[in-house]
Amino acid sequence: RLEVQGLTRAFGGRPVVDGVSFSVAPGQVTCLLGPSGCGKSTTLRMIAGVERLEAGTVRIDGVAMAGPGLHLPPEKRGVGLMFQDFALFPHLTVAGNVAFGLGGDKAARARRVDELLERVNLTGFGPKHPHQLSGGEQQRVALARALAPRPGVMLMDEPFSGLDNRLRDGIRDVTLDILKEEGAGVVLVTHEPDEAMRMADEIALMRGGRIVQKGAPYNVYNAPVDKAAAAFFSDVN
Ligand code: ATP
Ligand code: MG
Repeated sequence: RLEVQGLTRAFGGRPVVDGVSFSVAPGQVTCLLGPSGCGKSTTLRMIAGVERLEAGTVRIDGVAMAGPGLHLPPEKRGVGLMFQDFALFPHLTVAGNVAFGLGGDKAARARRVDELLERVNLTGFGPKHPHQLSGGEQQRVALARALAPRPGVMLMDEPFSGLDNRLRDGIRDVTLDILKEEGAGVVLVTHEPDEAMRMADEIALMRGGRIVQKGAPYNVYNAPVDKAAAAFFSDVN
């Protein structure tokens, strides 16, 4: 379980994330949703550990990862990361990409790689190189790579934004299925209400560095907290 309490960060004296709190249970998807510049990525980066927080705490399964005087590096947090520029390692094969960072013996790693490639419908793609894959295929390899070490928490920042519409729907569904199967708690950052409505168990609507409303997608959509929230959702179809 991920618990974020009072996350705060300023840049050049301007608060960018201002007291953000939420928690995510295993198998649950929480969407940080809001307009450009509202502090979504900065929030996610502080949870991942690639950005320092100024106040607040990040806990995973009850263990503090970041807080006053504490900053564990990203690789010690047991989180999976998938960002918009998800670049695969071009010199490694698909299998090499997925196995990257996996411990254990060779046979166990190979089993895990095969299992994940099958999950993302890329059985047999192991020996290929990233440049031989379509954008959607590369994205699924990135998902397999992020899931390989079985992270308890998956952090995704606009992971589908590079894909065309036709591909995006299918990949969202596949991703959601796999994340649920693996039981990871997910924080998904998006500025698209459609995507949040489709993927989230809970939406945390952000504005100006704060969460202004939190709830099930249906409730947030049907009972927006104010006019600005209603306007933000108005183009959902
Ligand atoms: P988008 O939807 O456009 O990705 P976002 O909600 O992810 O937006 P952030 O990337 O968290 O927004 O940025 C929030 C604000 O903080 C922006 O105004 C941004 O310019 C500023 N900011 C982010 N990182 C830095 C930095 N390293 N130095 C200075 N300002 C920053
Ligand atoms: Mg962002």
